[in-house]
Amino acid sequence: MNWTSPAPDRLAPIAASAALPSYALAGAARQHTLRSVIGCEGVGLHSGLRVALTLRPAEPGAGIIFRRTDAAGAGAAMPARHDHVVDTRLCTVLADPASGVRIGTVEHIMAALAGQGIDNAVIEVSGPEVPIMDGSAADFVFLIDAAGRVAQAPVRRAIEVLAPVRVADGDAFAELLPAREPDLFSLDLEIDFAAAAVARQERRFRMLPGAFAAELSRARTFGFAEEVEKLRALGLARGGSFENAIVVSGARILNREGLRFADEFVRHKMLDVVGDLALAGMPLAAHFHGRKCGHRLNNQLLHALFARPEAWRVIEAPQLAAAEAEDRAEDRAEERIEPAPALRLAAGSAASESVVLRA
Ligand SMILES: [Zn+2]
Repeated sequence: MNWTSPAPDRLAPIAASAALPSYALAGAARQHTLRSVIGCEGVGLHSGLRVALTLRPAEPGAGIIFRRTDAAGAGAAMPARHDHVVDTRLCTVLADPASGVRIGTVEHIMAALAGQGIDNAVIEVSGPEVPIMDGSAADFVFLIDAAGRVAQAPVRRAIEVLAPVRVADGDAFAELLPAREPDLFSLDLEIDFAAAAVARQERRFRMLPGAFAAELSRARTFGFAEEVEKLRALGLARGGSFENAIVVSGARILNREGLRFADEFVRHKMLDVVGDLALAGMPLAAHFHGRKCGHRLNNQLLHALFARPEAWRVIEAPQLAAAEAEDRAEDRAEERIEPAPALRLAAGSAASESVVLRA
């Protein structure tokens, strides 16, 4: 699979008349990275260890790269790509092919980076897992927004799905179909759990600029009270608490504060899909349709897509003049964005280039 440097005939410029902005070319036709360095601290959901997370700008074309900064990880680096995924039992785990060193629970920060249109960044973690924060992607969206986005010279690329690709396991499935609207990523998902508090939920989502932050980023991960002991026996969920997960028991939500959305469960599974599919290495111009799918099927879907060269191609944003006009409009729009009231305090404390939040 040589998808990072596609042959010229696989590279098809999008017609200049293609509607903009779009998500796949991402509401911005040029690549973007972070404007400044930013970080936070939190606990790993499965390891229970406290870890520091630092987000750094990266060169055009670098993509998203994870690095371990602790002694145990010894500087291992791994590109955030589906073919570096080594475990999908409860979260998506990447490994450095050279050393075998792992970084787990990458899906929520990957979703935030994709949702906020960041193409290139280095994510440093001082332990075996990205911190779980509140179980959603809201803190990562906040960090990215606080660091700011900056346009880079090269035009943005996306993977356009040309033919349906599907993976299934029993009554669960995940499929990628050609985009329903030009260059847009959209998503239909249905979940169905025995627990009455979750039950059957379905939702549609279109990845327009701002939509991820508004509709999906605050939805928390969830677990079932009766499974907690089983997970702990496997050495998992050691850092799990009511502060970072919804805990369900039959028809009841055990968290005192209840739910953030009536359909928070399906929204979180959609957040996971966005994060897992971001491991394609580029935005997708495609429609995703899934039922009861999790990290394993989401990852298998990318493997199935890239195994079929006729089912996809790399597309580029239209000519740079259009890209630059669009970026200028975007910069003007960004100047008007006010942080949400709850986040003002942390944003206001940013005396240096690095904001540090304590989870
Ligand atoms: Zn998740």
